[in-house]
Amino acid sequence: MQYICKKNKMTNLIVGTVAFDAIETPYGKTDKIIGGAATYISLAASFFTDKLNLVSVVGGDFPESAIKMLENHNVDTKGLQIKEDEKTFFWSGKYHNNMNSRDTVETQLNVLETFDPIVPKEFSSSDFLMLGNLVPSVQQKVLDQMSQRPKLIVLDTMNFWMDNCLDDLLEALKNVDVLTINDEEAQQLSGENNLISAAKKIKTMGPKYLVIKKGEHGALLFGENKMFYSPAMPLENVFDPTGAGDSFAGGFIGYLSKSNNLTFENMKTAVIYGSVMASFCVEKFGTERLTEITQEDVKRRAEEFVSLSNFKL
Ligand code: AMP
Repeated sequence: MQYICKKNKMTNLIVGTVAFDAIETPYGKTDKIIGGAATYISLAASFFTDKLNLVSVVGGDFPESAIKMLENHNVDTKGLQIKEDEKTFFWSGKYHNNMNSRDTVETQLNVLETFDPIVPKEFSSSDFLMLGNLVPSVQQKVLDQMSQRPKLIVLDTMNFWMDNCLDDLLEALKNVDVLTINDEEAQQLSGENNLISAAKKIKTMGPKYLVIKKGEHGALLFGENKMFYSPAMPLENVFDPTGAGDSFAGGFIGYLSKSNNLTFENMKTAVIYGSVMASFCVEKFGTERLTEITQEDVKRRAEEFVSLSNFKL
């Protein structure tokens, strides 16, 4: 596996929530901390590329320092709307003892309720588009503003949107290349219990490739009638799984845009880099771990992944 440096010609547009989260796990509890799907995606992707364009929205309560933090990770925040008189999207969640499942305690849409995404002209020809977890109609509005079809469109979503606006989600899905989703969401979306059957059905909805994330049990990639499995890094201490799926997506698209190679073989490596970024994310609360690791750490963990599942017959 090659060491990844940041220089990259491909531009990436990242759309998703930039949020406040309050998290409770068996290891502790946080007050409002910085979170949001686009935040995790951008931070994870920044280890692979210096061309990150963000489209999102926050309220006047969102700290300037958090925007600076994103900018320090190569994120162009021109497309981040700041609604001075409104409040930032807020999500709170509580994890069960096994850390594999969680309950959403509260979702306050706030600025998201009226969010009308505006893709700055210079972002509209981005090569790679990551539609992070967000209102499906907003994801679609971003798609509609692209001046040319990106080389790759990846969409992430969650049960909240399947419950509340399934039709809009199905519409957006028709246009995407890769859907990333967790196992329970794949079952809900397809109505199939078996994940292979679920993948087959979801592929008829639009996506050519599907990544099913299985938390501490790794991730499955489906596409071109092939299947690939990446384990999750077994870790002694998992403090907070929040953002693991988004960090996965960031590592996945970051690596693909860096390598500019969309073959199934290369997507397998992207799934491994996604798993690498997710494994860091869960080691501390919120975005903390992603903001302290180095490229050397990423390289070392990717090598650990190779030795974790490398064997001879
Ligand atoms: P993950 O753990 O990867 O599913 O992502 C957690 C992040 O998703 C948190 O930082 C939340 O702010 C964000 N989030 C939670 N609910 C939603 C929602 N309904 N739409 C968009 N983002 C959400």
